Amino acid sequence: MGISFDDLKTGDKAALAAALAQIEADADAAQTIDLLTRAYSNARAHVVGVTGPPGVGKSTLLGRLIAKMRAGGRTIGVIAVDPSSKRSGGALLGDRIRLATDPEDRGVFVRSMAARDRLGGLAEVTVAAMVLMRAIYDVVLIETVGVGQSETDVEGTADTVVFCVQPGSGDSLQFMKAGIIEIPDIIVVTKSDMEEAARSAQTDIKGAIRVAGAGPTGTEGWDTRVLSISALRDRGLEDLMAALAAHREFLLAGGQLERKRHRQAESWLVDSLRERFGRDGLKRAGNLRLAEGESPFHKLAKIARGLAR
Ligand code: GDP
Repeated sequence: MGISFDDLKTGDKAALAAALAQIEADADAAQTIDLLTRAYSNARAHVVGVTGPPGVGKSTLLGRLIAKMRAGGRTIGVIAVDPSSKRSGGALLGDRIRLATDPEDRGVFVRSMAARDRLGGLAEVTVAAMVLMRAIYDVVLIETVGVGQSETDVEGTADTVVFCVQPGSGDSLQFMKAGIIEIPDIIVVTKSDMEEAARSAQTDIKGAIRVAGAGPTGTEGWDTRVLSISALRDRGLEDLMAALAAHREFLLAGGQLERKRHRQAESWLVDSLRERFGRDGLKRAGNLRLAEGESPFHKLAKIARGLAR
């Protein structure tokens, strides 16, 4: 028995878990494609990617953020992307879920998933999981680890990208050198209770943004916000919530959200086909443009059937 979209809409966590298992077991089953396609056209959540190096304070920050959002009545789906799970087959997954959430709370669902099964963006199933959660919850948080690669991964999946920087770590400098300054919509200097180091990290970053003179790629008219937060002392979380809301408003007002998601869906389709059939298959696949509102899941399945023949 498969899970229907109506089962999911009830907010039953067991139904969502079963649907995710269904996707992982057979992403090409007709029932899975139907489910994903319905979820795709019923997007409602704000999808927020939170990224940064290990130890920067992402889990602590997310724990606080989730608690605040729940207190405000918002429902949340969390995907913690595990860079190690490809090798371990999931054995290390437990380590990545360090978010203390109430298992009885129907309004929050946390799931760890494999980082990537390829060199491109996030794994195909991770994106599928995001699409399901996006249709159910108010907010979807995707946590990824790293400096360099994962920012671009999450940029291809989230509406808003938050990049976390640790004071005094030299991250900010590395971050500027790597040229990833153009990607995040919001930069959070964590551990602002490390007073002096946090202030100088913030100054460095603001300076670098001014020099680069650029905002997030593909986004006209948004100035990257730089915030200083102490999750431990509960300082600055409201600023982050306000910045997230402002970025969402900005995307909605200019019609940019729809365009961004459309671009992301097309990239996902290309990545998924390349992953499955290589460059050669990609060449034979034909037109990979999606019509407005067209489900990439449906299209992928159709092309894959043609190529497999
Ligand atoms: P992650 O690996 O990025 O998820 O980082 P964690 O959330 O696990 O935090 C790494 C370490 O930084 C832990 O020892 C936390 O207690 C500490 N930490 C997290 N947030 C803060 C903060 O706001 N201030 C200080 N001083 N330490 C923090």
